[in-house]
Amino acid sequence: MNMKVMDVPAAPPAQDPLDALFDAMFRPMNAQGVYARTGAYESVVEALAALISSKRDAETEVFRFPPVMSRAHLERHGYLKSFPNLLGCVSCLEGSEAEIRAAADLHAVGGDWTAELETADLVLTPAACYPVYPIAAARGPVPAGGYRFDVACDCFRREPSSHLDRLQSFRMREYVRIGTPDEVRDFRERWIIRATALADELGLPYRIEQASDPFFGRVGQIMAFSQLEQSLKFELLVPLRGEAAGTACMSFNYHREHFGTTWNLRDADGEPAHTGCVAFGMDRLAVALFATHGRDVADWPQTVRAALRL
Ligand code: ATP
Ligand code: ZN
Ligand code: MG
Repeated sequence: MNMKVMDVPAAPPAQDPLDALFDAMFRPMNAQGVYARTGAYESVVEALAALISSKRDAETEVFRFPPVMSRAHLERHGYLKSFPNLLGCVSCLEGSEAEIRAAADLHAVGGDWTAELETADLVLTPAACYPVYPIAAARGPVPAGGYRFDVACDCFRREPSSHLDRLQSFRMREYVRIGTPDEVRDFRERWIIRATALADELGLPYRIEQASDPFFGRVGQIMAFSQLEQSLKFELLVPLRGEAAGTACMSFNYHREHFGTTWNLRDADGEPAHTGCVAFGMDRLAVALFATHGRDVADWPQTVRAALRL
C-alpha cells in the first residue's frame, strides 16, 4: 500500500473553557495558580463568605489563621506521610549582617542566593483546619457536647496548573466538629444536606460523590483505598467542563480518631475524640459561579444575586 506521509502541524494546546473567564477574575502574577483577584471576583468571594457565615451553627467558635503554621505541628499531623509533594516550607537568610549581606549580594552578580537559605520553623498552611486541633487539645479533656469551630485560612499546595480551578494559593473555609463518633457523623450528614441546599441557592449544578485524597506514592494508594472503603470523604463536584466529572468545590471529611490520637484530644473517659470537617473551597466556588453564570455579575440570575446580596 502506498501511504502518503504528510506534515501534520502540531495541534495547538487545547483551550480550557475556563480560560475565557481569566480577565474577569484574575490578573497574572508570574506563576501558575497564583493570581491577583479582580474587584468583581473578590466581591463574590466576600459574598460567599457572608452566605456561609449565615449558615453557622450556634455555639461555634471562630478562628482566622495566618497563611503559615508551625512546622512541628504539621509534622505531627502526619502531613509528610500523606502529602509531602504538596508542602511548601518557609526558608530564610539567617546569620550576622555580614553573612546575610553576602548571601543576598550573590543575586546581583548572577549567583544563587537561594543556596544560602535556612529552613525555618514555619510551613505554608495546606488546609484551614490543621491549626485548630492543637488549640482544642491545649484545653484538656473535650467537654460533653464536644466543640464546633469555624476556621479559614489562605492555603498553599504545590500543585501548579494552568487550570483556573487548581490554584497554588487559595482560600479555604471550614466548619470543624470535635466530639463522639455519633456527633461527628451527624454533623457531616447535616452538612451534606445544608451544602447541597447552598449549591441550589447559588444555581450551581452538582453531584455528591464519595472520594479519596490523592495520598502520595504507592503506600498512598492503600491509604486512599481504605478511605474509600470507610466512606470517610465525600465531595460536592460542580461540572465546569461539560459532562466531565466536575471540580470539587466542597468536601465533607470524617477523620475518625486520627486527630484525637495525634493531639491527645480525649473525652472525660479518656477515649480519643473523633473529628470531622466540611471544607468550602472559596476560590473554587467563585470560579464555579463565574463559569456557570457568566463573566458579568450583573447578568447573573436574580435569585443567585439575591442569595449573595450582590
Ligand atoms: P482535589 O481532588 O480537587 O485536589 P482535594 O480533595 O485535594 O481536591 P481537599 O483537600 O478536600 O481538596 O480541600 C478542601 C477544598 O479546598 C476542596 O474541596 C476544594 O474546594 C479546595 N481546594 C483544594 N485544592 C485546591 C486548589 N489547588 N485550588 C483551589 N481550591 C482547592
Ligand atoms: Zn479540615
Ligand atoms: Mg488535591
